[in-house]
Amino acid sequence: MSKVHNFSAGPSILAPEAFEKAIEAIRNFAGTGLSILEVSHRSKQFEQVMDDARAIVRELLQVPDTHESLFLQGGASSQFYMIPHNYLGTKAAYLNTGVWASGAIKEAKLYGEVIEVASSKAQNFNYIPKNYEIPADADYFHCTSNNTIYGTQMRSFPKSPVPMICDMSSDIFSRPVQVADFDLIYAGAQKNMGPAGVTLVIFKKDKQPVSVRPIPSMLDYRIHLDKESMYNTPPAFAILVSLYNLIWVKECGGVAEMEKRANDRASLLYGEIDRNPLFKGTCAAEDRSHMNVCFVLQDENPELEAKFMAACKEAGISGIKGHRLVGGFRASMYNALPLESTQALVNVMQTFHS
Ligand SMILES: *Cc1c(COP(=O)(O)O)cnc(C)c1O
Repeated sequence: MSKVHNFSAGPSILAPEAFEKAIEAIRNFAGTGLSILEVSHRSKQFEQVMDDARAIVRELLQVPDTHESLFLQGGASSQFYMIPHNYLGTKAAYLNTGVWASGAIKEAKLYGEVIEVASSKAQNFNYIPKNYEIPADADYFHCTSNNTIYGTQMRSFPKSPVPMICDMSSDIFSRPVQVADFDLIYAGAQKNMGPAGVTLVIFKKDKQPVSVRPIPSMLDYRIHLDKESMYNTPPAFAILVSLYNLIWVKECGGVAEMEKRANDRASLLYGEIDRNPLFKGTCAAEDRSHMNVCFVLQDENPELEAKFMAACKEAGISGIKGHRLVGGFRASMYNALPLESTQALVNVMQTFHS
């Protein structure tokens, strides 16, 4: 692999081990003499992949027996409407913490009333609201665990009087989660699990949809569950590479180890942001994301900003241009990013200020 330090927000860096195995599976999948790209998803070899993928999700996140996982298509964005289609009867409660949360709210409004329990929009989503009230008569409460664009992360989840649903696209498998606290968790794979093309859904098996509207089969979680996530052709290659990446997570020591590594990367980089008089963070300190670190120059200076970007490029650092809604820089540090890459960025920041 090349020596690029990949800070891309998504599709994100994956473990080199996953690529090595994926290359082999493209040539000769599980000794079949066929490529994973051309083999039947009904073959026993692929059924094994699906079983293994669901098993490793269960193991890594300690998913209780009450819950099951699905590998669906359409990205996390399709969950924005699939969730209300199934579960929004009259009204649902949403926490608005950024672009993705707002996207989920927009789609839910097509189905019924949406109560925004709190929003940090007035401050460009630079903190996570707290102490809000979740109405006890809402069908569910929806939140976003990590705000990829703004660089904030929920350090804890509220005690919800109604079923809780969470978009964990950009921090799943980066820390332990109490899965039992949620009726449904979803995550587009391409941030911290695998390549684009598959979305993980973990949901409570006995959860019943509301009865106010018919549900097309492809939007019915129960049908996907009945068919063991193979109601139609699954995105086989994306699932296989996700499995390989999760095997790497497991071999490293699981999500507890991923959390430790994320803490180490985050304290190194935030430490430098706070120390270096040239830079400042954009978010409330207690809500800072360990996955996506947003920072800007202390004083706006487009010329200096361009110079810093050039110095990063020179050092092999890729993907740190900030999202246009925040500006400045964003270093996304997903599971497979080595601490040395964070150190390389910190080194540039240090030499830059001298
Ligand atoms: C990227 C992202 C999405 C959108 O995911 P797609 O798979 O592209 O639809 C949704 N939520 C969060 C938190 C994200 O980071």
